[in-house]
Amino acid sequence: MNIALIAHDKKKKALVNFSVAYTQVLKKHSLFATGTTGKVIHEATGLEIHRFLSGPLGGDQQMGAEIATNNLDLVIFIRDPLTAQPHEPDILALMRLCDVHNIPLATNIGTAEILVKGLERGDLNWRVNIHDK
Ligand code: PGA
Repeated sequence: MNIALIAHDKKKKALVNFSVAYTQVLKKHSLFATGTTGKVIHEATGLEIHRFLSGPLGGDQQMGAEIATNNLDLVIFIRDPLTAQPHEPDILALMRLCDVHNIPLATNIGTAEILVKGLERGDLNWRVNIHDK
C-alpha cells in the first residue's frame, strides 16, 4: 500500500511517536510525506520515505495530485486544529480529494491507530485491485 504521512508543526512529535510505535507495520509499505514531516520521521525511525515539497510550499498539492490519480491508499494527516495555517486552501483540497476518491483519511492519532491496525488486518486489501486496473 502507498501511505501518506503529514503533520502540522505542533503535531509532528505526535506523528513521529506514532511512526516509532508502528515502524514494523509501516516498513512493509511505500511511504510518502510532505518535506519536513518526512525528514523528522526518517530521522526518528530510519524508514525510507519519498518526500514531496514542504506542505506550505506546495507539498500538500503534490500529495493531492497523487490522490487524484489514485496513487495513495491511506492518508494520515495529523492536523493542528488550534493554529491558523497559511496553506489552509491546500489542506482543504487534499481532504476533499480523499473524499472524492474514497481514500481512508485520519486527521488525528486516534483514528490513525485504528486505520493502521485495520491495514495490518487486511481491511484495506480492496485497494490492491484498484492498482491492478
Ligand atoms: P511539512 O508540511 O511536512 O513540510 O511541515 C506539512 C504541512 O503543513 O502541510
